[in-house]
Amino acid sequence: MYDVVVIGAGPAGLSSAIYALRAGRRVLVLEGKSYGGQIVNTPKVENYPGIKEISGFEFATNMFEQAKALGAEVQYEKCTGIERRAAGDFVISAGDHSYECRSIVLAAGAVNRKLGVKGEEELIGKGVSYCATCDGAFFRGKDVAVVGGGNTALEDALFLSNYCKTVSVIHRRDAFRGEKKKELLLREKDNVHFHLEQQVVAIAGEEHLEGVTLRNTATGEEKDLPVEGLFVAVGQMPDTQGFTSLIQVDEGGYVVAEENCHTSIPGIFAAGDCRTKNVRQLTTAVADGSVAALAACAYCEGH
Ligand SMILES: Cc1cc2nc3c(=O)[nH]c(=O)nc-3n(C[C@H](O)[C@H](O)[C@H](O)COP(=O)(O)OP(=O)(O)OC[C@H]3O[C@@H](n4cnc5c(N)ncnc54)[C@H](O)[C@@H]3O)c2cc1C
Repeated sequence: MYDVVVIGAGPAGLSSAIYALRAGRRVLVLEGKSYGGQIVNTPKVENYPGIKEISGFEFATNMFEQAKALGAEVQYEKCTGIERRAAGDFVISAGDHSYECRSIVLAAGAVNRKLGVKGEEELIGKGVSYCATCDGAFFRGKDVAVVGGGNTALEDALFLSNYCKTVSVIHRRDAFRGEKKKELLLREKDNVHFHLEQQVVAIAGEEHLEGVTLRNTATGEEKDLPVEGLFVAVGQMPDTQGFTSLIQVDEGGYVVAEENCHTSIPGIFAAGDCRTKNVRQLTTAVADGSVAALAACAYCEGH
């Protein structure tokens, strides 16, 4: 039986694993995709105290290797269910396997929010993307659009404007939510066009993306915008759908947990972006990881 099963190998999960292993516990990390979580999608991290600059992938790899060197067992399987037994321990289902453990750190993070419009699902990977830094290079010299009004959308547009022919920035409101400085940098670019108070209502294309239909949120008027790439940056949502029947979540799906990372179920602790909190960053994810791991270790004492 494992002492701690960590669900998710992002910064929060890996931090949990490191702390639980250093406390002498047997730890399994379950990861549904590949290690590192969201941070692997950014080429540069410049706000992690003590590290002036590092790529997201290198940051994640360092944490992963640290956890492995301490003895973390890692299985690349998505956790699909948790059962709490009368004795207060757990059985976790993942793929064809089940794992018994005394405690759980849920560090499932967040995933990109979709637009939810016709054509979006079908054209993912064929022009529709949620990661400009991952996929932008495929659109060199092409006309692309970015949807969203926050910092991620503005950063994506700036990044793409360096090598795409044109970048159309589409936002449903009349002003951006992101930093003014980023917006001003964008406004200086000749190849960036703004489509404010516009909503994407349809995405067209068969084999690959051909364009989007925009609707003016004030007048209802529609227009077509031909683009070969569409980068969706409209926020994120917690990746907790599989656990909502067991653990209390808020209306947005975030696991209800305070700074002590305790959830509504004794023995299950929530860390990182998947829990209720105001600031979702590396610093807060790894801080949660340590708090949740030590709470899980304390729970193990009695179970
Ligand atoms: C493009 C981008 C740039 C960013 N830049 C910065 C930055 O510069 N500085 C900063 O501080 N923050 C940055 N962030 C935010 C930071 O990446 C997140 O706050 C942090 O990654 C959260 O860590 P986490 O471990 O809670 O979740 P995540 O990073 O989301 O990791 C969760 C992991 O859990 C896995 N998982 C989910 N469900 C399951 C399941 N059922 N079973 C098994 N595994 C599962 C996922 O596959 C994932 O690997 C950035 C985010 C993005 C998207």
